Amino acid sequence: MTLKQWVNLPKQDRFVEDGIGSTSELGNIQIEVEFGTEEPAVGKSRMVPVGNVQSYTAREKADNGNFELRDNSWVGKPLGQKNWMSMDDFQLPAAGGDQYKMEIERDGKVVSTGEPIQAWRRLYYQVVVMWPPAVPEPNRPRAAIKAVGLGTMEGTLLKSFIELKERGGRGGVPFSSGSYWPDVYHQTVRECGARPTFAPYLFTLAFVHALPKATETSYDFVVAIYPGATYLDLTFPNPVWYGLDDGDDFRSPNGSWVCSGSCKLVDGATDYAIPDDWVRLAPAPPALGPYGGFKGVRIYLTPEAQRGCAGKNVRLVMRLKHLDYFINGCAANGACILARMVNFADRADDGIRQTIIHELGHAIGMVPAGMPRQLDRPGTQYGNYTAERDQYGHAGSHCSTGLSSMGTTWVGAPGCVMFGASGGWTAEGRSAQAPASFCGTCTPLVIKLDLSSPGW
Ligand SMILES: [Zn+2]
Ligand SMILES: [Zn+2]
Repeated sequence: MTLKQWVNLPKQDRFVEDGIGSTSELGNIQIEVEFGTEEPAVGKSRMVPVGNVQSYTAREKADNGNFELRDNSWVGKPLGQKNWMSMDDFQLPAAGGDQYKMEIERDGKVVSTGEPIQAWRRLYYQVVVMWPPAVPEPNRPRAAIKAVGLGTMEGTLLKSFIELKERGGRGGVPFSSGSYWPDVYHQTVRECGARPTFAPYLFTLAFVHALPKATETSYDFVVAIYPGATYLDLTFPNPVWYGLDDGDDFRSPNGSWVCSGSCKLVDGATDYAIPDDWVRLAPAPPALGPYGGFKGVRIYLTPEAQRGCAGKNVRLVMRLKHLDYFINGCAANGACILARMVNFADRADDGIRQTIIHELGHAIGMVPAGMPRQLDRPGTQYGNYTAERDQYGHAGSHCSTGLSSMGTTWVGAPGCVMFGASGGWTAEGRSAQAPASFCGTCTPLVIKLDLSSPGW
C-alpha cells in the first residue's frame, strides 16, 4: 500500500475528486508533528527515498527547483505550556513513481511512517470531434470524425506515472477542410468547456478531417500546340490546391489554385494571356482517393492563342498552388490535433493511436532539448521548437532512436514514438513503422518531466 502524492497539481479544491481525497494529497507535503516537551523544539522531520529514485543532473537542478526534493520550512512553535509543534513542508521532485517515507527524529531517536508516499502526476483532457458537412458533399466525410486511441493513450502514459482523465462532454466543431490551422485551434479551444475548471492542466484532443499544407510553384516549359487545338491537358506531380481548403474554393469556384493572372503562352516575343477562368480541373478528373486529389489540369486556349500558337512549340508560363504535404497531427496552444485523412484516404486507427501519443509527447515537453527549466537534451534528440521543418522535413523536437542520419534523411527502423514521421525506410529499402511507445532513452525522461506548469 502506498499513498499517492499528486506532485504536479496545486492544493486547490477543484482537483479534489476521482481518487484524490483532499488537498493534502496535492502538491507539496505539509507535516505537523506535535512533541510533548517543555524544551524548545528539537524534533525534525524529513522525507527519505525508498529504493531507487530518479536522479537529475546538476544543471537540471540548478535550472528548475522542481527537479529536487525541497525542504521548504522548518518551524517550531509553542503549543500552550508543554507541547511544541514542528511544521515541515516538502516538495517532492517532479518525477513520477518515486517513493519516499517520512522520518521524524528527536534526541537521536528516529521514527518512520509506515506507508510510503509515491509521486504521481495527473493531467486532464477533453475530446472534440469535427462534424461532417451539414449538406453531404463529394470527397467529404459523411459522419463525425471518430475519436480513437484514448485507452491506448491513457495506458501508455500511466506507465510513466501520468494519469490522464477525460473531462467534460464530447465537444464538436463544424466541418472545415482544416487547412487553416489557427482556426482549428481556436474552435477546439472554444468548444473545450472543461478547460476553465482544470486549466492549465487540461488539453484538448481534437479529431479533425485533415491538415494539409500548400505550396506555390512557378512553371515555365515548352508545350506543343497542335493545329486546331482548343485546349491543352496537363498532369502535375502534385495535386492542385482544390478541395483542400473550402475557403479558397469558395473564393474562386474555378480554383484559386491558379495564381491570378499568372498563366500565359509565350511565342518568341509575343505573350498570349490565359484568363484564370480558362484554367480548369480536367473534366471528370481521376481522384487520388475517396477524398479527392486532382493532378489533371485543362487549359483552354483563347482565340488569339489558338491563332498565334497553332502548330508551334511555345512556352507555357504560370504559377500554381499545390498540395505540399499532409501532416498526421500537431500540438500547440493546449490542443493536440489529429487528422483522420492523409493522402486523400482515411488513416488506419492504429496510425492515429500512434500519432496521439506522439502529439501528446510534444505537448508535455518531449523531446527536451536542454532549454531553460527543461531536462537535459538526450543524444537522440534532433529538430527544433519552431514550426519550421528541419533538414529531414520534420517540424518539432524529435527522437532518432533506431536510425542513422544520411544528411537529409534518416535510415533504419524508427524505435520511438517521438520519431518525426510515422515511419521510415531501412537500408534494405523496407518501410518500417514508428512504434506507439517511447524508446528506452525517452521513457525515463517522460517519467522525470516537470508537469507542474504545462507549456501549452
Ligand atoms: Zn512531431
Ligand atoms: Zn525516443
